[in-house]
Order: sequence, then structure tokens, then C-alpha cells
Amino acid sequence: MANYQAILEETYNAFRDIQAGEVASYIPELAKANAKHFAIALMTVDGQLFSVGDAQQAFTIQSMSKPFTYGMALEDWGRVEIFKKVAVEPVGISFNSINLDSKGRPPNPMLNAGAIALADMIKGASLPEKINRLLAMMRRYMGHDVHLDASVFTSERQTGFRNIAIANLLRSGKIIEGEIEEALDFYFQQCSLLVTCNDLAGMAAALANNGLHPKTGERVLKEENVSDVLSVMYTCGMYDSSGEWAYNVGIPAKSGVSGGIFGVVPKRMGIAVFSPPLNEQGHSERGLKVFEALSEKLCLHIFDDCTER
Ligand code: GLN
Repeated sequence: MANYQAILEETYNAFRDIQAGEVASYIPELAKANAKHFAIALMTVDGQLFSVGDAQQAFTIQSMSKPFTYGMALEDWGRVEIFKKVAVEPVGISFNSINLDSKGRPPNPMLNAGAIALADMIKGASLPEKINRLLAMMRRYMGHDVHLDASVFTSERQTGFRNIAIANLLRSGKIIEGEIEEALDFYFQQCSLLVTCNDLAGMAAALANNGLHPKTGERVLKEENVSDVLSVMYTCGMYDSSGEWAYNVGIPAKSGVSGGIFGVVPKRMGIAVFSPPLNEQGHSERGLKVFEALSEKLCLHIFDDCTER
């Protein structure tokens, strides 16, 4: 087995001084993030965790929550019903785009529009019940209690005019059938859950391990839904740079505006990077570089032949 700890440290040192990018500020509370924070974590499918840097630093999960709630919606409804409301098309548009497809559906569940539509669909008799189901699922993915950053949640709720517009558009087209406020509150809360880089590596490893968490042995997602989630992450997880990512890095992944990116290497490992300064598309600058380097060093690209390494 490769010396993962040494490879993570070498990669961390190679990129620790990069200063490119800007911390997200369109959600006022996120502007307070520390641009210096930097961590890389990796968990193998047999549950070994390796990490370097600020891997225990908590930050909000943001759009990295979308694959998990997509999995939840699939389990609630099945892929046929979900497909009626949210398509699975990579469309090369930014995460907060208001564009819908010719049937009025959000193009895919990794965009804000897709995730907001799914927030309306998650089953539960009331919003608190839906949130409790979300927390219970995230607890299984993380292997410990889950907390919400109340100030980020409030900040986004007060300033999320674009997401509010998207929700209204979806309601007018009957993609959202319940209360707009409830769908948005669910969505803003899922984005405000706190994670660490170590947590994300474990969550990714659970997806790499066919839906069984390698550390706790708990099932996080039915095996039959894992490939649906990973396919959508692979084709749409990096929004308008998904193609470039698939080409250069070659693994299903998801980024968030808090500066995290996690990637799933099926049957091998989960990897997460945290570094808040972002590029124009909303991806962590250092995160992109780290994944490119690790893909090369560890032969991660799913179409590469790794038998030699
Ligand atoms: N909560 C953020 C938003 O809706 C998530 C965006 C992201 O992480 N790309 O704008």
C-alpha cells in the first residue's frame, strides 16, 4: 500500500503557500472564514484515516450536502419519481443558475435549483420531522453528532434572494408543491451543517465502500442508489467545470463555497480538502490543485490502468 500519510504531507507542503482565490462573501457570515485554513484527509475503504493540516476545523458543508440529500430523495421516492422533477443533465452553468430545462425541471441535483426542488420532496409530516431525518442521515455518514451553524443559516436565509427567486420559479412551475419557505429552510439548513475535513473523507469513503461506512459499519445509503449518486457527482458535481474535472482528476466529486471539495474513489477511498479561497466558479483554489496532484500520485482517475502502481 502507498504511504498515504507521506503523500498527503508532501502534497500539503507543495501547496501550503498558494494564496490565490477569494473567500466567499455573498453569504455575509462566510466572509469571516480564515483564508489560511488548509487540510487534506483520506480514508480508505477499510477505515484507515490519514490527514494533515486543519483537518479537525469545523466549517459549513454548503453544496457538498447535495449528493447526500439526493441520495435521501432517491431512497424516499425512487429514481423514476425523482427524474420527473429533477433531471440528471450536466449543463455547464454556474451553481446558482436560474435556468430550467425544456420540461421546467432543474437540469441536475447538484445545482441549487435541483437541491431546492429535492428539499421540497424529502418525506416528513412537518419541517422539523424532515430536518430530524436529515440529521439522522448525516449522523450516520459522520459517525457522530451533527451540529448546525446558526449564524451561517440565518445569514443565508436573510440574504439568499437568488435562491428565493429560484424557489418561486419552481413553485410557479409546480416542481415545488409544498411551501416555498419550508423548502428553502430545509435547503439553507442542509448547507449550514458543520463538518470537518476528516468527516468528509469518511463520508466519501462510505460512498466509495458501496454505502457502508468503513469506520462504523453502518449503512448510509442503499447499495442500489450509490451508483446514481456517484454518476451525478461525476458528471455534474463541479458545475461548469465538471468536464474539465472529469478529464483532469477523473473521480466523482463535489465542492462547496465554504472551500471544501470531497472526492470518491470507488472501492478504494474517500478524499477531502479544505481551503476557503475560491476561484471564479466557486471551487477551492488549493483544493483543485491538491486533487490534480493526488490523482496523478495515487492513480485515481477511474479510466486509468493502475495495475502498475
Ligand atoms: N448555500 C450555498 C448557496 O446556496 C451553497 C452554494 C455552494 O456551495 N456552491 O448559495
